[in-house]
Amino acid sequence: QRWGHSIPSFSHLNTVTEQDLAHFSKILPPTSILSTLPPSATPIDDLAPYNVDWMGKYHGQANTVLRPRTTQQVSAIVKYCASQRIGIVPQGGNTGLVGGSISLQKEIVLNLGAMNNVRSFDPVSGILVADAGCILESLSNHIAPYNHIMPIDLGAKGSCQIGGNISTNAGGLRLLRYGSLHGTVLGLEVVLPDGTILDQLSTLRKDNTGYDLKQLFIGGEGTLGVVTGVSILTPPAPQTSNNIFLALPHFKNILPLFQIVKRQLGEIMSAFEYIDRTAYDMGLEHGLGPILDVDEVGDAQCFVLVETSGGNQDHDLEKLNSLLEHLMSADEPLIYTGTLSQSPGQFASIWALREGLTECVQKEGKPYKYDVSVPLADFQNVVDAVRERMISKGLYGDDGISKVMGYGHIGDGNLHLNVIAKHGYRPELEAALEPFIYELVASHKGSVSAEHGIGAMKAHALHYSKSDVSIEWMRKIKQVFDPLNIMNPGKVLP
Ligand code: FAD
Repeated sequence: QRWGHSIPSFSHLNTVTEQDLAHFSKILPPTSILSTLPPSATPIDDLAPYNVDWMGKYHGQANTVLRPRTTQQVSAIVKYCASQRIGIVPQGGNTGLVGGSISLQKEIVLNLGAMNNVRSFDPVSGILVADAGCILESLSNHIAPYNHIMPIDLGAKGSCQIGGNISTNAGGLRLLRYGSLHGTVLGLEVVLPDGTILDQLSTLRKDNTGYDLKQLFIGGEGTLGVVTGVSILTPPAPQTSNNIFLALPHFKNILPLFQIVKRQLGEIMSAFEYIDRTAYDMGLEHGLGPILDVDEVGDAQCFVLVETSGGNQDHDLEKLNSLLEHLMSADEPLIYTGTLSQSPGQFASIWALREGLTECVQKEGKPYKYDVSVPLADFQNVVDAVRERMISKGLYGDDGISKVMGYGHIGDGNLHLNVIAKHGYRPELEAALEPFIYELVASHKGSVSAEHGIGAMKAHALHYSKSDVSIEWMRKIKQVFDPLNIMNPGKVLP
């Protein structure tokens, strides 16, 4: 198991017994209970999908998975678990990348997947109220006929749930335009660690009536309660979307390029994504693209995807064409080449290259994934420093680390640093990477987690980005909500 630190022992918690199972069967129908214990006696293999994360990196111990359908059922389960001191791991689509949704010891997994109803959608205000277990993509499909889109979009949209997105405060590809979930989530319904239902499912845009409790659960990673319902503001779909894909000779051109693009595109710019050369080549090897002519790309060091979302195609195309013209005709062009998508198909394949990288990384081997915030100017320095570190340790090559690459959301200062171990995870690779990477990020005054969260992977590294005072107050908040420490124990807090 690769928890990034030793697994804490949960001597304060009890494991699920047959008596507990008998109680759960009074709350849930048999089809909603998976347990290796009698009378369920579910084969262990059937629990496997709930006991391993998307990367295959974190392997859990849960012998019982519960799949409630209603908030009342969640409340009854949590209340009982509190009375019996049974640990609970809330689980959404299980696509998180920091081991937060996996049971460390034998906590039960409370999977929200069966809570998947849209409760209401108001096409005038754009406010959507839904169960936490709704898949992000299904919510997008639900509101598409009303010409609305979700304010969040990410590569895992086909599996991740809105409750999981909220609990990780996921960022994704639309954050630049629509802001973070701290702004777009209007209300939450949460089952607290004693089983109480906190109903703050407000549909108000403005509500300054004291402390905004819901913010604690956005990014709370299931440590303060189980999110069961969500009220979220969805923006109108843009009338027109376009994208361009640019090849840059040097990374140093990124900053001036970003400034020019922002100035020239103004209000229509909706994404500015970065892909380094290693990531681009990997994408091509896995059948994504090619987007640009191989000869024109030459020895380009990195690539940028710019998306626009606006209200008038002619206006937006005029802006994009004049941007490209400006970039190509400069005395010392910042780009080697670039292309403007000419069809919905080309628009989609440009995005497919960027969005498909996470899956390509997965196919390349076992990835060490670091999702960090650092100043834009340092993106490539961080990637290069990690590669050099592995070379200097004699760990770079097919036997050890086969690729080090960076891609991410430049517009948000968020770098996804991926370090691939072709033949699997190994302790000496981890020892060379950590705490080196965390110290490197801290030296740039960055964050060790820009958007994936802390989970189990980075609890021991929290102090690189949070002061002792901050951690102390986080502990106090946890103590107030979850004095028994049953809710996702061992996650987030060291
Ligand atoms: P899970 O993985 O099941 O859980 C994640 C955490 O939330 C766990 O701590 C869990 O306990 C908690 N949790 C889940 N549901 C609830 C609930 N209802 N109540 C309380 N706690 C809960 N992240 C980004 O921010 N931006 C990206 O662009 C991005 N791209 C990705 C692309 C791919 C291909 C993949 C696999 C992941 C990506 N991620 C990205 C990671 C991201 O965190 C998750 O995809 C997503 O937000 C997690 O949702 P989930 O439903 O899968 O949650």
